[in-house]
Amino acid sequence: MQTRDRIRREYNSYNDLSRQFCMYDDQSMDSLDDRIEMNPNGCETDCYTLCPCPQPSLLLLRQHNFKLKVYYSNVGNCVQCNKRIRFAVASLRCRDCPLRCHTECYDQLTVNCIPQPLISSKRGHLSDFAPDAAPMVPALIVHCVTEIEARGLEQEGLYRVSSTREKVKRLRHKLLRGKTTPHLGNKDTHTLCCCIKDFLRTLQRPLIPVIHRHDFVLATQQNDPLAAEEQLYLAVVDLHRAHRDTLAFLMLHWQRIAQSPAVKMSINNIAVIFAPTLFDDVDLNLSNVVIWQQVLRVLLLQPPGFWAQFLEVDSLMPACSLDDDEWKRESNHSPSVHWQSVKTYFRSMVNLAG
Ligand SMILES: [Zn+2]
Ligand SMILES: [Zn+2]
Repeated sequence: MQTRDRIRREYNSYNDLSRQFCMYDDQSMDSLDDRIEMNPNGCETDCYTLCPCPQPSLLLLRQHNFKLKVYYSNVGNCVQCNKRIRFAVASLRCRDCPLRCHTECYDQLTVNCIPQPLISSKRGHLSDFAPDAAPMVPALIVHCVTEIEARGLEQEGLYRVSSTREKVKRLRHKLLRGKTTPHLGNKDTHTLCCCIKDFLRTLQRPLIPVIHRHDFVLATQQNDPLAAEEQLYLAVVDLHRAHRDTLAFLMLHWQRIAQSPAVKMSINNIAVIFAPTLFDDVDLNLSNVVIWQQVLRVLLLQPPGFWAQFLEVDSLMPACSLDDDEWKRESNHSPSVHWQSVKTYFRSMVNLAG
């Protein structure tokens, strides 16, 4: 009962939800079994538009914890400009994540601070790749999503058009095994999308594990919208933290994809593409796929606020202060520039349409 009251208090969205679920009333499961529209145009054929539109409902940010460092060996390139970090010249590295950049590039940084997981052996579970602090979303996913969205979501067929296996493999290796955060500005957008798909597909346990699948199916088959939302909330909360955070992060991203007319990827298309990936394809058959697609549609049609509530940001160490004076002295930076201004945001949380 307490949970029910809490959900009512938190969302107060019964009316919104009812409106959204009205869209299902006239839909039979058969009519929902759509194929991917290769070229959907406008809303005439796609009633699964999002309402309300995804908004920057919360501003997630985590500051990099920079340290000034002089290297006397080859440490690779700057994550921002992709130019070499020069021998014996002071540059910045983050204490919390494997990011390195030029001092002069720090205020243009668009890469989020995603701490590396403590364990070194990558066993293939989602939590093996996720940071230990919330939001527990693997760096591969956050960096790819941020880069895709930073390009404005103007490219047609995101997540539908494929890339080459070799390009995806190389990028995946850099993001999972690289010593530093790689520069993604020169990567093809479809390769970034395929990298996310490939990562999700090769997890040992799917994003919505088999043991939780039934909860999601039951929740999304509820006729009462409030009961559906409540059950869905409980199903999401019951997931392992890494699965919950990653699911919420990707839902918000895919909602923004669906909202961009230029991309021409409707909620239906996204559900069709990702249903086998998110639910695992070991028992892939037609009836299962139909059910999973329907579940995924319901998830994608939740208000952005529903998903945003799961993405809290745990603070790590306070932003570096010890090196401030040293860095200002060495780089002759204006004293008015404080480290507090060195903030990189989860840019994917920014409403690109706005
Ligand atoms: Zn640079
Ligand atoms: Zn960092």
